Amino acid sequence: MGTSAVDVEAPNARRAASVGARLRDARAAAARLFAAGWSAARDTLFPPLCPLCGEYDESWVAGLCQECDRQLSPRKRDLCRRCGAFVGENAGEREQCAHCAGRALPLSWTTALGMYDDDSLLRHAVLALKQPAGRALAVPLAMRLADLMRDLSRAGDFDLIVPAPAHPRIAALRGFNQAALLAQALGNALRAPVRRLLRKVKQAELQASLPATRRVEAVKGTVTPRFLARRAVAGRRVLLVDDVMTTGATIKECARVLLAAGAKATMAAILARTP
Ligand SMILES: [Zn+2]
Ligand SMILES: [Zn+2]
Repeated sequence: MGTSAVDVEAPNARRAASVGARLRDARAAAARLFAAGWSAARDTLFPPLCPLCGEYDESWVAGLCQECDRQLSPRKRDLCRRCGAFVGENAGEREQCAHCAGRALPLSWTTALGMYDDDSLLRHAVLALKQPAGRALAVPLAMRLADLMRDLSRAGDFDLIVPAPAHPRIAALRGFNQAALLAQALGNALRAPVRRLLRKVKQAELQASLPATRRVEAVKGTVTPRFLARRAVAGRRVLLVDDVMTTGATIKECARVLLAAGAKATMAAILARTP
């Protein structure tokens, strides 16, 4: 007697629920079909072009065409562990260039995708990233840097990312700071916090021909910590990010300022190192 209401209504309710579920499935399938059709139509009308070389490619590797990916595949063994300079295959176990070996340096390590060679695709990428149209390159380039850092077991070897600062006048002219774009993309790829904690207060006149000691003097005082930087870096390992390292004097000055502000260690990730 008392069971009738439940027994009669339950199958109907179940049937209604299953009809509802099937309708939802059908709607979702139609939406998927439409999305797939639209994306195929869009790709036919506007084929995706490689943001680096501008060529069309059907298969992509982390946001670039296969040929660009091949040309940007990083060197892993023949760069100095400390400063990223080219040391060749005979670097041996030290993994350090003659300049770094046996010296106290502010950088624990430097990870570079490669060298800033005259006709290399990496140099082209670094120059393109400075242009407004090349801003989209920050993500695929940072992805490659992140992969390299994972390969070298350095991806978890820091606590915080800080981009190398650009002089406000240069950043205003360009509309952005490419080091900051790169740092943000690297932070996203490695799920690490990114803070702009440094400020460039003047532009150093740096010539590669200057001897190392003069370069250190020339960059002194060009970078200062921002408000609250001390609290942010105290006792932490800070990864500095920049697009290119030429003499290394500027990034070492950034490292020196961060260490003076209380950072436990500093290291660097860059796209390219000049020979
Ligand atoms: Zn390409
Ligand atoms: Zn070195």
